[in-house]
Amino acid sequence: MRQPFIAGNWKMFKTVHETVVHVKELRSLVKDAQGVDIVIAPPATSLHAAVEAARNSNIAVAGQNCHWEREGAFTGEVSAGMVREAGAEYVILGHSERRTLFAETDLEVQKKVRAALGAGLVPIVCIGETLDQRDRQQTLAVLDQQLQRGLDGATADEVAGMVVAYEPVWAIGTGRNATPEQAGEAHAHIRTRLRSWFGAEAAERCHVIYGGSVKPGNIASLLALSDVDGALVGGASLDVASFGQIVAAAVA
Ligand code: PEP
Repeated sequence: MRQPFIAGNWKMFKTVHETVVHVKELRSLVKDAQGVDIVIAPPATSLHAAVEAARNSNIAVAGQNCHWEREGAFTGEVSAGMVREAGAEYVILGHSERRTLFAETDLEVQKKVRAALGAGLVPIVCIGETLDQRDRQQTLAVLDQQLQRGLDGATADEVAGMVVAYEPVWAIGTGRNATPEQAGEAHAHIRTRLRSWFGAEAAERCHVIYGGSVKPGNIASLLALSDVDGALVGGASLDVASFGQIVAAAVA
């Protein structure tokens, strides 16, 4: 049985000071939340402070990205090992903002997945179609390609421990979220693919979460879908009360 997994992607928001204030409030809001994984992904500069502020709580920390090399002349990048050393346990990879704004490719996502696993981080691998791709009936083919390329070379055991985030690009930061039917179809498809590529056990254990304008008002209908194991929350995770309500909905 997969327990719900709720992650907040803070994107490029919050200074170190704001991070500490936020985590202090969040930890008291969610202190009694059991049976749910709670993860926050602050900017790289705030990772260490977030880990310290969340110490001995039920909140884990994720990086938002990492480079695939261990070290080197890659100005502006951080390695998976550095993210892990800062105390993060997870790393978001292949987010659509990285793919569209920074031209990240499926092959790079794959290399980052390998690097993350090698550094002891759990990858949260984001996949999702654009509106144009959906309108052209290409959604499932796009998901297949991103998933297959992103996870290429992974073992069944590695996939079992991973998180896949289905994030329709047209639903991110737009206030428009997938209907339960659209999310249900995509999640069931992802689970079927995981089963055929990595086996039944890996597919059963891997978390497949939804992202795209998740809010306190729509989280319950998404979590009611059997293949939706949680949410990757962007905008609403910046507000501690909203994120707390989303976590509470996952506990109920
Ligand atoms: C995200 O950044 O992964 C995301 C889903 O953003 P939002 O919730 O704001 O749509």
